[in-house]
Amino acid sequence: MTVITFRENHALHASRGHPERPARLEAVRDALAADPTLRDLRRLTGAPASREALERVHPPAYLDRLTAACRGGGGSFDVDTYATPHSLQIASETCGDLLAIMDAVCTGEASNGFTISRPPGHHASPERAMGFCLLSTAAIAAKHAQSAHGLRRVLVLDMDVHHGNGTQDALYADPSAMFVSSHQTGLFPGTGAIDEIGAGAGEGFTANLPVPAGTDDAGMLAVYESVLVPLADRFEPELVIVSAGYDAHRLDPLGGLALSVAGMTDLVRVARRIAERHAAGRIVLTLEGGYNPEVLAHSVVSSLRVLLDAGAVPSDPFGPTRQRGPDLTDLIGRLRRRHRLG
Ligand SMILES: [Zn+2]
Repeated sequence: MTVITFRENHALHASRGHPERPARLEAVRDALAADPTLRDLRRLTGAPASREALERVHPPAYLDRLTAACRGGGGSFDVDTYATPHSLQIASETCGDLLAIMDAVCTGEASNGFTISRPPGHHASPERAMGFCLLSTAAIAAKHAQSAHGLRRVLVLDMDVHHGNGTQDALYADPSAMFVSSHQTGLFPGTGAIDEIGAGAGEGFTANLPVPAGTDDAGMLAVYESVLVPLADRFEPELVIVSAGYDAHRLDPLGGLALSVAGMTDLVRVARRIAERHAAGRIVLTLEGGYNPEVLAHSVVSSLRVLLDAGAVPSDPFGPTRQRGPDLTDLIGRLRRRHRLG
């Protein structure tokens, strides 16, 4: 069984003219309502994540600063990261919803799920809000899986076009949480180089797969099959968490990759296959970026159909790019050598 979470109050987190805006989820909501297979998906609502759950990643002083900022009416943490008086509540609910799905999946009540929410989380590092993100949602979920469910190996896969620096920071020294991020080279936030592979006991448990602008469906799928899959086979995760960002699409206003909806859906399919092979099918998606609302809506629908095993995904109305992407053979070779994959 597939479960989702969706709340209407995300619209209380908004800033005029900002690309991370309520229209993103409104488009997803409408697309879910229009799809007879998805309309009746089971919906969960979690309690807002507890302070204990948040403190597994964020120090108390950071959470106190965030609380004070929202109580004081909100404001900006940097040029593109804002908070309204409601933002911490909404971000805590996003985390809590994800933890509720994790609980359902880890206890066998559900087989997989998707937290359809905003704001995103993967740029929030333990001590810093940035890149539209306030709480490090995926990392908080990974730590919850370890603490609340005793899992010893959790794979966090980040398919957003931007590097998931916040998740990486939170998990960098943790050998029980493998973090793999595919992203466009040279884009915000500038981190995610091949040589960032973890530290201390966590060395070798972070993998960054930076690809050049223009990378297309076939190129990205080759990177996933040649690097992610063998890394996952070596790690044998008991749970897969996907930071599901859809801004790698060729029509996304913030990214420069050339993937299609079908291509991004294939990446979810690879993640699902890893979960089937190693984790008894346990896979949980949490929404990150994706700033073309129509593309985002189609992508979420398509990913949900993969989770549901709902047969063919709907046709991709935007289609693939007509331009051939860059040759990634050398990059794949470098990545495989860096991670001793032969
Ligand atoms: Zn992004």
